[in-house]
Amino acid sequence: MEAVHDVVILGSGLAGLRAAVEAARVSNDELDIAIVSRVQLVRSHSVCAEGGTAAVMQPEEGDSLELHAWDTVRGSDFLADQDVVKRFVEESPKEILQLEHWGIPWSRRHDGRINQRPFGGHSFDRATFAEDKTGFFEMHTLYDTLQKFARVTRYDECYVTSILVDNGVFQGITAWALTSGEFFLIKGKALVIAAGGACRMFAFTTYSLSATGDGMAMAYRAGLPLKDMEFVQFHPTGLVPSGILITEGARGEGGYLINNKGERFMEKYAPSKMETAPRDIVSRSEMTEILEGRGFSRPDGLDYVHLDLRHLGADRINERLPLIREVAIKLASIDPIEKPIPIRPAAHYCMGGIRTDIDGATPVEGIWAGGEVACVSLHGANRLGANSTAECLVWGKIIGEKAARYAMARGSVAPTPPQRIQEEERRLFGWIGHGNGKEDVFLIRAELQRLMDKNVSIYRNGPDLEAALKKVRELKQRVEHVRVVDTSRIYNTNLVAVLETINLIDLAETIVLGALARTESRGAHSRTDFPDRDDVNWTRHTLAYYSPEGPRLEYSSVNISMWQPVERKY
Ligand SMILES: Cc1cc2nc3c(=O)[nH]c(=O)nc-3n(C[C@H](O)[C@H](O)[C@H](O)COP(=O)(O)OP(=O)(O)OC[C@H]3O[C@@H](n4cnc5c(N)ncnc54)[C@H](O)[C@@H]3O)c2cc1C
Repeated sequence: MEAVHDVVILGSGLAGLRAAVEAARVSNDELDIAIVSRVQLVRSHSVCAEGGTAAVMQPEEGDSLELHAWDTVRGSDFLADQDVVKRFVEESPKEILQLEHWGIPWSRRHDGRINQRPFGGHSFDRATFAEDKTGFFEMHTLYDTLQKFARVTRYDECYVTSILVDNGVFQGITAWALTSGEFFLIKGKALVIAAGGACRMFAFTTYSLSATGDGMAMAYRAGLPLKDMEFVQFHPTGLVPSGILITEGARGEGGYLINNKGERFMEKYAPSKMETAPRDIVSRSEMTEILEGRGFSRPDGLDYVHLDLRHLGADRINERLPLIREVAIKLASIDPIEKPIPIRPAAHYCMGGIRTDIDGATPVEGIWAGGEVACVSLHGANRLGANSTAECLVWGKIIGEKAARYAMARGSVAPTPPQRIQEEERRLFGWIGHGNGKEDVFLIRAELQRLMDKNVSIYRNGPDLEAALKKVRELKQRVEHVRVVDTSRIYNTNLVAVLETINLIDLAETIVLGALARTESRGAHSRTDFPDRDDVNWTRHTLAYYSPEGPRLEYSSVNISMWQPVERKY
């Protein structure tokens, strides 16, 4: 089967939905738009975003675009491209108002204005929020808005397996409809990749099960470079033992981090910002406390510290953090009104992704990427909380418009040789019936996750990374020999797990190799054998290109148009 559309959007999270709305809007509903998602549309991970979306909304009260830009650049440990940051801070307030006009119920102040809360690394209360369910309300507002447009086709629960590029120009994607088992080609004039992050390569993570980096891995194999993959964010407050996120808003509202001696230990590490220092710093501080014996131990090794909200009082917790209370009660049997919450750092965000220019364009004609799957270089080596949902909205709009204008100008799409589809179908379903394979994909994935948690985590060093590279390459060989016991084409989760694991392994290889090469500490990449930032040699971006032997690394320059790097202190 073959389906043909004008603009194909891969992913229905915040970036994908914002792009879809914009593409429909600028074309006056003339373009035929497809949204393809491996989950039901609004079950994308964006719906889990809790704490807020950053934007300068109160300039008359002291905030400014320049301050937001400076916080973002300093938070990025001077690896963000500063022209990108400038554009971001200028556009994000417009997106907050745009969502307001589309009906989002932002939490408000007593004077009726949109409320904002403090967030890590921001020097002004800048996180716009809707309770602690910001992503949920944003997703539903965009979904509602999409209903205004007639020419949008949804492919829900449809797993995309490859991106086809011919002579440097986008052709189509191959997709497997999980509910019917059908395999088909979706052709388009333009592609928007908005397929989210890859944190499921770690075991202790805040991420949905579906965040397996498929978009990044497919783009990488189609020849698009990945950028700055070694920078993985660990969020300071993953609930123990599930890893479910306790929003930074909990510290923004005034929560304390406490060690086993009852001390507010952030005093030692970031005396001026305390618990609301940037995430890389807070996560390292927690790990240092745990490693030096001031945490609470658990038999499963998930040692933790406490997040204490009790002094906020029941009213504030119920008003501002109802989801957090519910999650702590349901998943850790702890009511934060009465007891501190056990937390530790959890893998939370990929700063790296598909390389794009400032307009979200990739090096392949007809392909744009935005949101977490992309690396437009807004976050550099460490993202500030609340800047990601804002990035999804800002670049979702930009790439939706660019892709639409390109599609309106482009003539018909060239035919795709049928053998390319047949080859991909064979690659995919060839796994079925591998009943004799000696490896179990779920065990391989668990090994990968344990390895990444142990060797490629908050603190890294050369020997651990060398060992990780060797092991990742061994897993890459072994995954070729997995057995797929389920022989059906319908909702074959066994086969999906194989495809996901292949993707995660390819991406893990780019992370480990980039981390090994980067002999410095910057942002979320902290090497105990190279503890200092090395501005002379390493103020540059890493690019990873696919080759069958493994990633080939190249480097590119950082845009430093506003501020020269200085020491980062909080
Ligand atoms: C628990 C949690 C809380 C967060 N809270 C905040 C917050 O308060 N503020 C903030 O700024 N950021 C927050 N973040 C980060 C932010 O929410 C995400 O970075 C952002 O929402 C990602 O959006 P996205 O559109 O790029 O991708 P996603 O929302 O992850 O969507 C990815 C889409 O791609 C689709 N897809 C992927 N692979 C395939 C495939 N093979 N075939 C078909 N479809 C595919 C998926 O189905 C999905 O629709 C949070 C993240 C988490 C995990």
